[in-house]
Amino acid sequence: MIIVMSPSATPEQIEKVRKTIQELGYTPHEIAGVERKVIGAVGDERGKDRLQALETMAGVESVFPILKPYKLASREVKSVNSIIQADGVSVGGEEIAIIAGPCSVESKDQICTTAKLVKESGANFLRGGAYKPRTSPYSFQGMEEDGLKLLAEAKKVSGLPIVTEIMNPREIELVVKYADILQVGARNMQNFSLLKELGRVNKPILLKRGMMNTIKEFLMSAEYVLSEGNSDVILCERGIRTFETATRNTLDISCIPVLKKETHLPIVIDPSHATGHWDMVESMSRASIAAGADGLIIEVHPDPVKAFSDGPQSLKPSKFARLMKNLRPFAELMGRTLRPTS
Ligand code: PEP
Ligand code: MN
Repeated sequence: MIIVMSPSATPEQIEKVRKTIQELGYTPHEIAGVERKVIGAVGDERGKDRLQALETMAGVESVFPILKPYKLASREVKSVNSIIQADGVSVGGEEIAIIAGPCSVESKDQICTTAKLVKESGANFLRGGAYKPRTSPYSFQGMEEDGLKLLAEAKKVSGLPIVTEIMNPREIELVVKYADILQVGARNMQNFSLLKELGRVNKPILLKRGMMNTIKEFLMSAEYVLSEGNSDVILCERGIRTFETATRNTLDISCIPVLKKETHLPIVIDPSHATGHWDMVESMSRASIAAGADGLIIEVHPDPVKAFSDGPQSLKPSKFARLMKNLRPFAELMGRTLRPTS
């Protein structure tokens, strides 16, 4: 249920409503609006009629049900776009957030060189996996904690905040020390115990859409994180599996307008995993910006031929620089910006 407080509601009245929601066995989530405060009461659907009685409390303007199955993720609860802050950098604002870097962290030289070069071209974040979800147990599994330490060094030399993958609830405590945004990979989109744990973390989550999941399932997974108290979820479309084999996945561009209608959460597109080919990254990046994406996550490797993972879809830093240059006018056309080169 959504409890809309009147603009003149006092902090005491708001507190009383929060308390009553808890007493009824629901969790209150405050959504700060421009004019008034809205409180989302989420919990067991069956007792929601009892919440209706909150409309008799002082300071309450109206109470109505949230019709969508994803409550806190829905535009019903929050009509304005969420802007998420990660180490002082925004995702979801006017500036399109560019997350760039290798698929896997491989060495100090590899990650630090990439970090410096993508920063120069205007990237906002450095990506790099230290824990890798690989189809084969015999493939490179990531450098783990050593990789996280190298990401910290790359952050120091470039100043870029870090986006890195979390695969297991056991590793949250460690990864959270190094990551500015924790990435949940496509294969873990419905790992509900991981999502619940991440709901208790005070860092933003980049949630990738599972390759076989619908938009509704995607938003329900975001809801798992939100319902545990972490309101900073960034959605990432990375291509879905279809009958087509010419590309690694099929980029679902139309998910952008659908998500924009359904949710206030920012949307980032991953053209690298979506296509699987470096030479398709630019056209899909342009299409993503045209469709209203709030960010892009792009794989960049100093020497793609030697990459431990995802070389064929990785851009060389010089190609990434050209991509950024070419994207600037497209961003402007959409009333958006990219971070200036430095
Ligand atoms: C990645 O970002 O390198 C990755 C493994 O992505 P996904 O989970 O989308 O396959
Ligand atoms: Mn990858």
